[in-house]
Amino acid sequence: DTIGDNFDRTVAAFGDRDALVDRPSGRRWSYRELGAEVDALASGLLELGIGKGDRVGIWAPNVPEWTVTQYATAKIGAILVTINPAYRSHELEYVLGQAGIRMLVAAEKFKTSDYAAMIADARPRCPGLEHVVLIGGEEWNSLLANGKTADPARLAEIAATLSADEPINIQYTSGTTGFPKGATLSHHNILNNGFFVGELCDYTEQDRICIPVPFYHCFGMVMGNLAATTHGAAMVIPAPSFEPKATLDAVQAERCTSLYGVPTMFIAELAEPGFASYDLSALRTGIMAGSPCPVEVMKQVIERMGMTGVSICYGMTETSPVSTQTRADDSIERRVSTVGRVGPHLEVKVVDPDTGQTVPRGTPGELCTRGYSVMLGYWEQPEKTAEVIDAARWMHTGDLAVMDDAGYVNITGRIKDMVIRGGENVYPREIEEFLYTHPDILDAQVIGVPDVKYGEELMAWVRMRDGAAPLTAESLREFCSGRLAHYKIPRYVHIVDEFPMTVTGKVRKVEMRERSISLLG
Ligand code: ATP
Ligand code: MG
Repeated sequence: DTIGDNFDRTVAAFGDRDALVDRPSGRRWSYRELGAEVDALASGLLELGIGKGDRVGIWAPNVPEWTVTQYATAKIGAILVTINPAYRSHELEYVLGQAGIRMLVAAEKFKTSDYAAMIADARPRCPGLEHVVLIGGEEWNSLLANGKTADPARLAEIAATLSADEPINIQYTSGTTGFPKGATLSHHNILNNGFFVGELCDYTEQDRICIPVPFYHCFGMVMGNLAATTHGAAMVIPAPSFEPKATLDAVQAERCTSLYGVPTMFIAELAEPGFASYDLSALRTGIMAGSPCPVEVMKQVIERMGMTGVSICYGMTETSPVSTQTRADDSIERRVSTVGRVGPHLEVKVVDPDTGQTVPRGTPGELCTRGYSVMLGYWEQPEKTAEVIDAARWMHTGDLAVMDDAGYVNITGRIKDMVIRGGENVYPREIEEFLYTHPDILDAQVIGVPDVKYGEELMAWVRMRDGAAPLTAESLREFCSGRLAHYKIPRYVHIVDEFPMTVTGKVRKVEMRERSISLLG
């Protein structure tokens, strides 16, 4: 299937059902209405001379036009390049050039981002960029108007020329460990992944999915939008960018049955003043993913949010994204403490990162995945692609994992984040899990900092709960003493209000390390 054909079938089957709800503007679309708008934009793009294989960039927070553009480009085989809404003109310029973008669809401005001004700034140095269309502006409206009067037969003609193995997206990674990479993904890659995520959550046309995660990232556009449209479920946009209160308001007012988030989002929602007075009774499922999911947070999501069916998913942009997942029928212990088992039609293995040999169950190593989900490659970067996808098409994830006898996977951290203290391998994840059990700690992140004696020492960055007195290094060490091996006990503590984050809600440990080094002088 191509994404366009699949979407058309959903429109035909569930035309009267809600497709998209935008809470900030109060606008809503049934599948029939969304289908008509997608077709109008797709035809408008064709009229403008945009077609199969052309790169169309989208640079905006979560607005409904994002979704319309996603499906309109898919219908004509244009490759949608999803651009991080937090970028500034310098990074925009890089993406425009690297991906060879012919047309850019962008929000005019949002919060501190004046997209129109930044585009104007970058444009003289981007000769390949032929069209800029600001969402809701004159050009946007005339694209839709032209599309509405265009000959619909052209869309059908184009549909017949598309094949599911062709690239349809360039999605950038979060940039947690360095500069983001553009993963080139086919219809087959992401449509299947979205479909299987929908199956995991048992979605039907009765479901309403609250999507506070960014559309520019695979969590929003595949696990959110594609999982919804492959099952006729509704997509609910609580706000253009994550806000805990707006998210809870949306779940309550729209009777959402499913809620997504990275762990930091769920932590913020649970800590929101007035949380207890929300009626979240329609929630039955959801997904936590994107970074290590603390056991304590999972338990609270199940108990206090009533998300009894919630799953943890593990994956990466390069694998469309989901590779492993917990299921509602897994034991509660496994559901809160592992990333589950391999997804349908995929393979996983754990290898020794140095030799590439598969390690015995229970032994940590690098997780590798293979199957339909593995990207075509990094866009026009064959050397980078060859560093991560081997000759047998295994994707080397860069994540450390342990697989148990029953096939459940535990992600112990990223290879790049592993700390070697005095010759001992320390996985920050394990210490973070332990710190979450401290009653005054809201959130904790552990990193390695250079140390003359031990090579590396551990430093904990801690966010305290409201009203709690800041922890000292001494009191933290006391809390850990006797419960963690001595070499895992953080030597330094740094109390902060916020961690440095990516737009996808991940903690940027690279930046934490840099800042810690200068803190320690
Ligand atoms: P970059 O590759 O640009 O440094 P990134 O790896 O964070 O950034 P993504 O593709 O968005 O970019 O994220 C994939 C990574 O997120 C995985 O490799 C893994 O480290 C982490 N991850 C995703 N889901 C989970 C999970 N459930 N538990 C632990 N880690 C996870
Ligand atoms: Mg990555």
